[in-house]
Amino acid sequence: MNLDNAIKIYKDFLKSKSLLYTQPREIVLKEAFSATWHFSADELTSQMHKQGMNISRATVYRTLASMKKAGILNSVDFGHGHIHYEAPKTKKQHEHITCEKCGEVYEIQVENLENTINSAAEKAKFKHIKYAIRISGICEKCKF
Ligand SMILES: [Zn+2]
Ligand SMILES: [Zn+2]
Ligand SMILES: [Zn+2]
Repeated sequence: MNLDNAIKIYKDFLKSKSLLYTQPREIVLKEAFSATWHFSADELTSQMHKQGMNISRATVYRTLASMKKAGILNSVDFGHGHIHYEAPKTKKQHEHITCEKCGEVYEIQVENLENTINSAAEKAKFKHIKYAIRISGICEKCKF
């Protein structure tokens, strides 16, 4: 999904909820799509403030949550007690592994995971399958 597609989908989503595609929403959307790594709403807000953007934390929180509802942003749970987001873009399907000591997050590719889950769920006659798995361990830096 590229930025133009995401904007189009988001605009349609907002319209269906009788909401407007406002400038602050656009700013947050573009910032979220330019992020190359997973970010929490707080992290994105701080990053935007550092760049001198005048946007409230609440706006960032709300916009990210609605982007997630619109299906143009993925959320990931690293067990930090807050949600992290990641723009789908063209990135390859991957899973996240979190270090239980330092909290660092790494991306790993699990061969055929999606296919395996989909076919198992389809056997149970499910459609529109979503999944979330949580993988953790001790990273290389922490295992002395
Ligand atoms: Zn975090
Ligand atoms: Zn670690
Ligand atoms: Zn990721």
